[in-house]
Amino acid sequence: MATIFTKIANGEIPSYKIAESETHIAFLDINPIAAGHTLVVPKKEIDYLFDLSDSLLSETMLFAKKVALGMDRSLNPIRTGIIVEGLEVPHAHIHLVPIYEEHQNVSLRNKVEITKEKMAELAATISKEVKL
Ligand code: AMP
Repeated sequence: MATIFTKIANGEIPSYKIAESETHIAFLDINPIAAGHTLVVPKKEIDYLFDLSDSLLSETMLFAKKVALGMDRSLNPIRTGIIVEGLEVPHAHIHLVPIYEEHQNVSLRNKVEITKEKMAELAATISKEVKL
């Protein structure tokens, strides 16, 4: 059965899309830990990030870099952090988390409330600054 991220990539379920290429997609995490928290996903359905081939892992990191730089330009955090866990969704992905203050709680269990309107606004703002 297709993973939830494959369904997003196929447009079967909605997302706050940030960027897309033939091989990758980035969209806002629906339960963010910071405003602008974004997921970068290779479209190929592989559970564990380190099971990706060397070339796909490299491409995924380079895609994540472009998205992160777009987040830096649009959101102006101190920097954008990167987290990989993958315990919930069995489809490899990278969390990009804007860090706005030095002691920000960047645990994936530290969810913050963001309205749907704000999520849509964040996605539009970030996506404009992502240069693939
Ligand atoms: P993990 O697999 O532990 O790295 O976490 C999976 C992440 O995917 C969690 O932060 C969820 O909030 C996020 N997530 C799950 N379903 C969706 C969805 N439909 N759209 C966006 N993010 C999602």
